[in-house]
Amino acid sequence: MPSGEPSAAPSALAGSLRGKTVAIDPGHNGGNDKAPSEINKQVDVGNGHKECDTTGTQTAGGYTEHAFTWDVSKRLRKLLEAQGAKVVLTRKNDTGVGPCITQRAATGNKAHADAAISIHGDGAPKSGHGFHIIEPLPVPAGGNTKIVEPSARLGEAVRDAYHSGTGIPYSTYVGTKAIDKRDDLGGLNLSTVPKIFIECGNMQNPGDATKMSDPAFRQRAAAALDQGITAFLSGR
Ligand SMILES: [Zn+2]
Repeated sequence: MPSGEPSAAPSALAGSLRGKTVAIDPGHNGGNDKAPSEINKQVDVGNGHKECDTTGTQTAGGYTEHAFTWDVSKRLRKLLEAQGAKVVLTRKNDTGVGPCITQRAATGNKAHADAAISIHGDGAPKSGHGFHIIEPLPVPAGGNTKIVEPSARLGEAVRDAYHSGTGIPYSTYVGTKAIDKRDDLGGLNLSTVPKIFIECGNMQNPGDATKMSDPAFRQRAAAALDQGITAFLSGR
């Protein structure tokens, strides 16, 4: 520790992300299912049109994806802020509608985020399990060409940290070593800052659902995401 530093520093990592901005996008929202006309509105995602937002999935036990993404996002925000990062979220609570995927991308862009992550839980057939990362493919009309390479680095850092930090295996049903690349997601097509999506597990799969419904698991997930984002931002 350099001389002059207070010996009661909260942790060795405190301040390591000072000057960095992270955008966290908790997928979906609690009011979406009651506002179909608003969320089904078509928006321009650079290479086509998609719905403004969607309702997301839920476990067989009724734990919703929007509640999961909101809880993990809040936990992650706390960990990043403890290290000195500035954090912006794309929504203020878990009871509203939207915002549209175009707005979710714009929030990270406007903040000039050094890293952005969209947090989801998958709704795949229940035989499949595990997590995966979605990285952007270039969509010149969307404006994301420059972020393809740094987003891939962010994706690998988060993949490695999430895998070791949670013990959740790589997805058995999509991607290669838990990495998928897509050009049909507005949140990635329209991003001008390094950005990935993570599908933290398959909420339709009983084993993954049990984990995702457990607050202790969600804390481990947030800690792992924090580690992956920190590794990317520190160039490790
Ligand atoms: Zn989702």
